[in-house]
Amino acid sequence: MNIAIDGPAGAGKSTIAKRLAKDLNFIYVDTGAMYRAMALYFLEKGIKASEEEEISRACENIEISILYDQGEQQVILNGKNVSSEIRREEVGNMASAVSVYGKVREKLVALQQKLAQDADVIMDGRDIGTWVLPGAELKIYLTASSYTRAKRRFDELEEKGISCDLQEIEKDIKDRDYRDMNREISPLKQARDAVLVDSSDMGIEEVVETIKKLYQERVS
Ligand code: C5P
Repeated sequence: MNIAIDGPAGAGKSTIAKRLAKDLNFIYVDTGAMYRAMALYFLEKGIKASEEEEISRACENIEISILYDQGEQQVILNGKNVSSEIRREEVGNMASAVSVYGKVREKLVALQQKLAQDADVIMDGRDIGTWVLPGAELKIYLTASSYTRAKRRFDELEEKGISCDLQEIEKDIKDRDYRDMNREISPLKQARDAVLVDSSDMGIEEVVETIKKLYQERVS
């Protein structure tokens, strides 16, 4: 049994997917973290996002694997645990820029499909319902307005004592949406058989309960 959750940056996919995985006893797979790990490699090597050939060649030197430590996904890049480093804003933007390339996607999609074959997974990303797991039993397209998503990110950073600019965050989010939705390969879009959940005016609990109900309907 597989559950696919797709949607734009900051819609709450990982928070919701983690909660669902715990409650339903699934393994949570965060595919964005894999794109981020690849992006980190390119950043460390000083390869620019525009250098497609360099990036495609470098893909051959990248080994990404996933481990679980007390239920938390850990991303291993060439033997090193990079789970914290990949959360940087700069890495997220680079991930969005390099995820347009076929070589980058090919490598990660194969890993994602393998993980889903071996276990019951709840997987979040951009192309899970449309491309990675087209046969997933339940597909959710989770979204929220760009303002809501930016405000959530702003509050998160403020809480950590990091000062930031709300307008700048919203601009970054809109740029990322544009790139993710308009790329040639596997653009972000709602799968035909996905259920749309707009969390702009919903709390975490409400979203979790809504999806759980849909899941119960599918399995009963
Ligand atoms: O979800 P997260 O912000 O961690 O993802 C980082 C970037 O990776 C996204 O902006 C998107 O461009 C890319 N991505 C993707 N396909 C996925 C997951 C993430 O293209 N399945």
